[in-house]
Amino acid sequence: MKPVLDRLNAGEILFCDGAMGTFLQARGLVPGECPELWCVTHPDAVRDIHRSYRAAGSDIVECNSFGGTRYKLRHYGLEGRVAEINRAAAALAREVAGDTQYVLGSVGPTGEFMEPLGDETEEAFFEAYREQMVALEAGGADMAVVETMTGVEEVCVAVKAARAHTRLIVAASFTFDPQPNGGYATMMGVTPERAVEESLKAGAHLVGANCGTGPDHLIEVIKRMKAAAPKALLIAMPNAGMPVLEGGKTVFKETPEQMAAKAPLLVKAGANIVGGCCGTGPEHIRAMKRAVLAG
Ligand SMILES: [Zn+2]
Repeated sequence: MKPVLDRLNAGEILFCDGAMGTFLQARGLVPGECPELWCVTHPDAVRDIHRSYRAAGSDIVECNSFGGTRYKLRHYGLEGRVAEINRAAAALAREVAGDTQYVLGSVGPTGEFMEPLGDETEEAFFEAYREQMVALEAGGADMAVVETMTGVEEVCVAVKAARAHTRLIVAASFTFDPQPNGGYATMMGVTPERAVEESLKAGAHLVGANCGTGPDHLIEVIKRMKAAAPKALLIAMPNAGMPVLEGGKTVFKETPEQMAAKAPLLVKAGANIVGGCCGTGPEHIRAMKRAVLAG
């Protein structure tokens, strides 16, 4: 397969998967269960989800490994199985991807804070991310995305761990909220401009945004990132709109058609990889890809 960066640098737009969690729930994952453990216990279910996105036209399969650091797995008493679970996650994605799709390891936040805000040291974070990244690569991942991040220091540690210990292509993706003054910042106060600058300095190959408040805001965030670093490769994975509570359930309202109308604007803003986050499914990816290819 052609190296992914060559294709992106040549101007090709690549498409990634949408959500994973909601589809695991549809297959029987219950609250309190570890979603990532399903890579080991329910490989058929995870494989089917990868296949449905592949059929929708995604170029990149995203692993079921979002909560795969030892910090997150610890909540389920699984902190001793980081290597096994992440390896399984990447191997399942690789099985479906074959040699026609790239495999992207998903790497979410630890949920903890580094000194001086919290008790964790930079070394401990580095070790946790190294452990997950190495296992993803061993399972067959080509790339990793550190995603849904709010703290830039944590992102930089994760990116450095991947760059120092693997050959993975690494993306750093943040979650932003619109600010009262009109700008954007993460929950930790990081602006899109600072996110780009610091992530690239740490060695990220791609920078971008995921989750958050839907495609309209993400278009604005990507524009700001592009303006701050015109040569940077950018990744954009919007939610299907703002989550709304309906009858005790969280639902996302943007239809595949609505998101498809916005996908070309994301690309025009500077996105090189487009995918989906919460509330998106294969139909969203299929419609977005079709809209972008139609120009
Ligand atoms: Zn999300």
